[in-house]
Amino acid sequence: MRYAVPAPEIVAIPVDGGDPFPVRRVYCVGRNYAAHAREMGHDPDREEPFFFMKPADAILLAKTMPYPPQTKDLHHELEMVVAIGKGGSDIPPEKALEHVFGYGVGLDMTRRDLQAEAKKLGRPWDFGKGFDHSAPCTSLVPAAKCGHISKGRIELKVNGETRQKSDVSMLIWSVPELIAKISQSMRLEPGDLIFSGTPEGVAAVKKGDKLHGHVDGLPELEVTIV
Ligand code: MN
Repeated sequence: MRYAVPAPEIVAIPVDGGDPFPVRRVYCVGRNYAAHAREMGHDPDREEPFFFMKPADAILLAKTMPYPPQTKDLHHELEMVVAIGKGGSDIPPEKALEHVFGYGVGLDMTRRDLQAEAKKLGRPWDFGKGFDHSAPCTSLVPAAKCGHISKGRIELKVNGETRQKSDVSMLIWSVPELIAKISQSMRLEPGDLIFSGTPEGVAAVKKGDKLHGHVDGLPELEVTIV
């Protein structure tokens, strides 16, 4: 096929023991750990889940992340990543795990100053959330290998010091519930990723910082801000 301009390459995430996973869309859920919702000034008990998206090519597989432009407040948000293997609409929660291909570990890097301004003005979050290289991610592990993950330590260290620490069981909306909710609004497709939300302890990073993300049973995420 000839195109008028060069066609984008498919972003493909390495898979533990298999062919790479082609990324289609990146869904992210906001405020999905109660203590993080509270630190952002919200009452977690009253909220339905809400979502935003990043472009597929925001996925960063390199070990270094360039400090992005137009911000003075780049924050880390460590999250478990769910990879969709089978599409569907109106997926019931009890069937949702059949749609999961596997799991990984990612960072929903956030230009917090731009996001805060957008919130204040009632504008979209895209430029605070969906910028270039804003989604560092590990390789994926097929669920057939690691099982479905509903609990386990999730921890981010910056330069060896713990910044975020919780347990995946603390998710307000579980992985099956997230899949059910998203698929009520948009048909999920193979290649979609879901960043499942971040625990408390989000904070700023600067050039030279070494981030180390961990979720029990999944690959270690290592990225340095340059
Ligand atoms: Mn997030």
